[in-house]
Amino acid sequence: MRAIKQSKKLRDVRYDVRGPILVEAQRLEAEGHRILKLNIGNPAPFGFEAPQAIMADIVHHLPSAQGYSDSRGIYSARTAVAQYYQSHGLADAKVDDVFLGNGVSELITMVLQTFVDDGNEILVPAPDYPLWTGAVTLSGGTPVHYRCDEDNGWQPDLADIESKITPNTHALVIINPNNPTGAVYTTEVLQGLVDIARRHDLVIFSDEIYEKILFDGAEHQHTATVAGDDVLCLTFSGLSKAYRVCGYRSGWVLVSGPKHLARDFLEGLTLVANMRMCPNVPAQHAIQTALGGYQSVDELIIPGGRYYDQAMLADRLLNEIPGVSSVRPRGALYCFPRLDPEVYPIADDQQFVIELLRAKKILVTHGTGFNWPDPDHFRLVTLPEVDVLTEAIGRIAEFLEEYRAA
Ligand code: PLP
Repeated sequence: MRAIKQSKKLRDVRYDVRGPILVEAQRLEAEGHRILKLNIGNPAPFGFEAPQAIMADIVHHLPSAQGYSDSRGIYSARTAVAQYYQSHGLADAKVDDVFLGNGVSELITMVLQTFVDDGNEILVPAPDYPLWTGAVTLSGGTPVHYRCDEDNGWQPDLADIESKITPNTHALVIINPNNPTGAVYTTEVLQGLVDIARRHDLVIFSDEIYEKILFDGAEHQHTATVAGDDVLCLTFSGLSKAYRVCGYRSGWVLVSGPKHLARDFLEGLTLVANMRMCPNVPAQHAIQTALGGYQSVDELIIPGGRYYDQAMLADRLLNEIPGVSSVRPRGALYCFPRLDPEVYPIADDQQFVIELLRAKKILVTHGTGFNWPDPDHFRLVTLPEVDVLTEAIGRIAEFLEEYRAA
C-alpha cells in the first residue's frame, strides 16, 4: 500500500503547545525522567478541584445523559448561558443565540469552518492562543497578526490593526483576558477595537474563557456589551478554567448584535453543529449550576488564593532573573517573559525550550509558538504550588545563567 500522508490543508497548521516540545518531554519521560510540564493551562494535575456542586451535578445526571441532546446543547444550559449574559449587560441574549460545544476549542473550529471562505483574512492577536491561527488556516483563511504592545501592558496596538485591514478582512479576534500575556483590556481599548470593527464591517470573535480569573481589581468587560446592536459579536467562554474542569470539555458561544444579518451564518453553524451530533451531554448539565452557583474561583484570585499567589510569585521571580522582564499578569494563568536578546541571543526559541527541557526537566512553551514574531519570549503556566513554582523558576534561572556564561 502507498504511504498515507496528511492532507495539504494541514501543511501550514501548527499547535506548538503540544508539538515537538511535548514529544521531546514524553521521550524523556519514557527514559525515566520526571518532567515538570508548565506548557498547558490545565488546573487539575496541579491539585485544583472542581466545585463539588459541579461534580455532584454530573454524577446525578449520568443516568439521564445517555442519549444525544439537541445539537446546540440542552435547553436548561443554553438558557443559563443566555441569562448569565442578560444579567451582565446583554439584555437581548436569548436561548437561540447560544451554542454549546466540547470546550471553546470545538466551537472555535466550528465557527471558523462556518464563517471563513478561502482567502478571507482574519485579524488575530500576536501573541495569540495558537488554536485561533491554526483554525483560521485550516478553514482556508489567512490569519493576519496584529501586534499587542508589551510596553503598554500588552494591550492591542490599534494603529497596527488599522494598518493591516484590507478589502479581504472579515473578522477580528480578541482574546481578553489574554493567553499568553495575562493582559486584561481597558474599556478604551475595547471601544477602539469595536470602533475598528464597526468602521470596517468586521465580525468580532471574542474569546473570554479567562473572564473570571482577574487580579488586583482588574475588571473584565464583555466585548459584546461594548459592541452594542450594530457589530456582530461571537463571545466564547466555558467551564475549563474558572471551574477547573478542562477534561469535561464544556463551553459555549453566544451570538449578539445585529443577529438578523447573521441568519445564513447561523443556519450554517446549526448544520455544522448537527454534523457533530451534540457536545458531551453529562458535562452540559454542569453549566447551569456553574453559572448560577457560588463562584469558588473568587477565592483563588485574591491574595492568599492559589491562582493569585502563584501568578504574583512567578512574576516576581522571573523579573529577578538578569535580562528577563515580565509584564505582571492582570488575569489568566500565565506569565509571558521577555529574554533580552542582548543577553540571550536566541536564534530558535523552540530549540532553546528543548535545551531547557533536556537540561532542567522543565517544559515551557516558546513565544513563537504563540505566533509572536521574535524568538525572545516564552510562556510559563503559573499553576504549580508555590514551592514547586519556586523550584521550577530557580531551575530556569540556573539554565539562563549557564546560557549567559556559555
Ligand atoms: N481559548 C483560550 C484563550 C485558551 O487559553 C484555551 C485553553 O487553554 C481555550 C480557548 C480552549 O479552552 P477549552 O478547554 O474550553 O477548549
